[in-house]
This record gives sequence, structure tokens and C-alpha cells, in this order.
Amino acid sequence: MGQHDGFMKYDRELPKTRNPKDRVGDFKEIFEPFPENKTKTQAARCMDCGVPFCHSGCPLGNIIPEFNEAVYDENWEDAVSILYSTNNFPEFTGRICPAPCEASCVLGINKSPVAIEHIEKTIAEKAHELGFMTSNTPEVRTEKKIAVIGSGPAGLAAADQLNKAGHWVTVFERESKIGGLLRYGIPDFKLEKWVVDRRIQIMDDEGVRFKVNAEVGKSINPEMLKEDFDAIVVCTGCTLPRNLPIPGRDLKGIHYAMDFLTLQNKEISGIKCDDKLSAKGKNVVVIGGGDTGSDCIGTSHRQGAASVLQLELMPKPQSKRGEKDPWPMWPMTLRTSSSHDEGGERKWSTLTKEFVGNDKGELAHIKLVDTEWVNEGGRQQMKEIEGTERLLPCALALLAVGFTQPENALLKSLGVTQSKAGTVEAKEYKTSVESIFAAGDARRGQSLVVWAISEGREAAREVDQFLMGSTELPSKNDSF
Ligand code: FAD
Repeated sequence: MGQHDGFMKYDRELPKTRNPKDRVGDFKEIFEPFPENKTKTQAARCMDCGVPFCHSGCPLGNIIPEFNEAVYDENWEDAVSILYSTNNFPEFTGRICPAPCEASCVLGINKSPVAIEHIEKTIAEKAHELGFMTSNTPEVRTEKKIAVIGSGPAGLAAADQLNKAGHWVTVFERESKIGGLLRYGIPDFKLEKWVVDRRIQIMDDEGVRFKVNAEVGKSINPEMLKEDFDAIVVCTGCTLPRNLPIPGRDLKGIHYAMDFLTLQNKEISGIKCDDKLSAKGKNVVVIGGGDTGSDCIGTSHRQGAASVLQLELMPKPQSKRGEKDPWPMWPMTLRTSSSHDEGGERKWSTLTKEFVGNDKGELAHIKLVDTEWVNEGGRQQMKEIEGTERLLPCALALLAVGFTQPENALLKSLGVTQSKAGTVEAKEYKTSVESIFAAGDARRGQSLVVWAISEGREAAREVDQFLMGSTELPSKNDSF
């Protein structure tokens, strides 16, 4: 590292966020520009540890101390080459990753960790600005054909790697645009869609074929894929939402979070849609305290909700170091999102008991009760607190309580074995059916973009090995 004592000289500093009052007026990214020399001093905070835990903390095995050094030296070409050697899409992870690397940063033991995610985003944008991101078609084609089902980050990473290895790759996507949850789930204030479009264009120029409105199992026959392609990679995500089957669930005004977020994302992407669902002027209750819930809060504010309340069943986490992380804590502190700074209320230890309607069958109130966790015979039990049951006005309830499993129909018709939890069983990314592989949320269950990219890369390597008998595609294990 060019400078070894940066961590003693500089504090962690991140780009400022736009004023919450202003930013809820649009869906643009929330960060203000950050001067390049400040990113350089942030990179200088890296201690270049003998054992870089950040590196193993990253599901992609990003070689973080090395790219920090290159940024400090203003050697952008090296920084880009180091970062892209392990991560196909740092422009996504640099914006929306919860950064497990930062949770593993040794500096974080007694100071704030290195701002790795911000540095990653800066390198990714520099790559485009300085013209390092030109499209490169493979010099040699193998004439092997691979179908990737699903165009989320796992499918895109698998397609990118397999195309680089010289295979002909076709990505089948049932929606009308490519990107999976990057496009239809994650709101623009976290990830503007031009960032996704820019990447798709490069992949298209490099020879990856994209087929949209192509649902395998409906408009595309899975048997045809098996016959026409040498290998298939299933990257269909973990899309079945968990329900909340309490009294009143059938009232009008109760929706899954993804129905709400998808409509907003479609509107921003200019995708015509007949369904209408808006938080404008409504008392909104978001049930569920994770990322999806936070995205519903930010979207509700931007649509002009009258009020926004987020409910979480679990108790509010304490942020004592060393304590086992109660969910949702990351890393070792209460996890908040930018949406929480924009208004609304957040309640913990609250159980939703009933949806209460008016005489038109519309949701009008939500019945809640406070809870406490008590130790009974060595087991923690949730108990309702007597006398705390109450009704709150609510015209729109958004269920953000997780996803249970991938959709079954396609997996059944492909004949792949599923785990008890319903995910695709694919040890080393190989399913029970020869020549069919799986990656991302469909294989590991609801997870993160960084894991989806990692799985797509690793699955591509297994496919290449299967088709060619050997592979030169990298694995994250190579960099340790
Ligand atoms: P997906 O992104 O779900 O993509 C699967 C694709 O397969 C979809 O496009 C789907 O249409 C397509 N498909 C399914 N079946 C078929 C079929 N039969 N034929 C053709 N196509 C099909 N992670 C983070 O790291 N940071 C975040 O901030 C974050 N925010 C999130 C916010 C929300 C609202 C949600 C729901 C998730 C969020 N996540 C976040 C998680 C992250 O988005 C996922 O882990 C990741 O997208 C999984 O990638 P994937 O490629 O496996 O699946």
C-alpha cells in the first residue's frame, strides 16, 4: 500500500445523501457527487492486512486491498482490471450491496471500516468514464449452445462468463425487459435503471442473445431447450412470496410488496401496465422489517402516502458489540436504510392480528398487539402484552415478509430435484438432471445480488468444465 497510516489520518467519509425532503420528490439515486481526491484518501485507510478478512468476507472473493492500493496510486486501469477479475457487475454491487466485506474489515474492530462499497462504485464508474468498458467479443467460438433461464444477476453473470469462454449463450426472460429483481424489485433511488441498460447493451454487443417475453414452461417448451442446447442454467429466482393468512386477508388494499414495487418500477422504465396501485394519500402499513420493506417505505413516500408505518415482529436489536446479531442487524448495528431517514414510523415487537374492512370490503384498519419474548423452560417464547391490542387506520397494507421458494412448475417439467425448502438441489451447481445447472436465489433461496453474481460465475465454470472437459474460467477459490 502506497500509504500505510491513512487509517490514523483520515476518518471514514461517504458521499452525502440528498436532503430527504427533496429526494422524495423523485426516484433518482440519493447520493451527491464525491470528489475523486476524497475517494483516494478513503482507499488510503486500507491497512493492507496480512490476512485480508474483507477478501474472504466478500462472496465474490474481491481482491480489495489490491484495488484500494491502485485507487490510492490513481492507477485506474489496474483498479478496474483487479475489480473486474472477480466481479462482472461492480456497478450493481457498488450501489446496493450490504457490503459483507465492510463487516469483515479489520479496521472495523476499533474504527469505522474502509468505505469499500463506495470505492467499488467509483472504480466501476471510472471504467466507463475512461473507456475501459468497451465490448469484447470472444476471439474463438466453441459452437456449444447454452440456455440461461432468467435474467437476474445470477443469469446475467452466468451468461457473461459463458460468453467470455466462447460459447453461444441465449438468455430467456419471461418479462419484457432484462434484469430480474435489479429491474423489477429494487427501486431507482437505490439503482437507476440506465445502469442495468448500459450493462445489457455491452453484453448484447459481445454476443449474448436475449429473448424477452419468453417464459420457459409456457411460451417456450422446456423439451425444446433440452434438445436444442448443450446445457441449461436455471436462474429463475426465489419468487413465491410468504403470505400472512390472518383474518381479513381477502380485503381490497392488501398486496404483496413485489406487486407494489414492480408496478412502480415498470412505470419508471416506461413499460405499459394496466394494473394501478398507488400509496398516494393513503395510510400505508408495511409488514416486514427487511430490504423489501424498506424499499416499500421509500416508494410510498415518493408516491405521496399520508403516513407510513413499518411493523417488525422481532424485538429492536441492541447494538452491543460481540452480541450475537439479532436480525436485522448488519454489521453489528441496527440496520437502517436510506428510506428510514425520509420519514415514517418503525415499530418493533408488534404482531399484526387482523385486517379490518369497511362495508365495501376495503381495508380500513389493522389490528395490532405488542409482544415480548420471555424465557420459558429455556426456550424464548413470544407473548402478547395484555391491554396493548389496538386498531390503526390503514388503507394499504404491503406484505414484505420474505419469499418461500422458487416457482415449482418449471422445475417439475425440467425434472430437477428440489430440496425440502423447495429450492433447486444442485451440489456444485449441477442439478439431478445431466446438463442442467442452477444458480442464484433459485438454488440458495432468497439472498443478495452479490451472492447471485457469485453463484452465476461458479455455475458457469461448472458448465464450461462439463462441456469442454476443462475450464479456464476463474473461481472465487482461486483468489485465496
Ligand atoms: P432474480 O433477480 O429474481 O431473477 C430471476 C429472473 O428469472 C426474473 O427476471 C424472472 O422473471 C425470471 N424467470 C422466472 N421464471 C422464469 C421462466 N419460467 N422463464 C423465463 N424467465 C423466468 N439484494 C441486495 O444485495 N441488495 C439490495 O438492496 C436488495 N434489495 C432487494 C429489494 C427487493 C424488493 C427484493 C425482492 C430483493 C432485494 N435483494 C437485494 C435481493 C436480490 O435482488 C436477489 O437476491 C437477486 O436479485 C437474486 O438474483 P437471481 O438472478 O437469482 O434472481
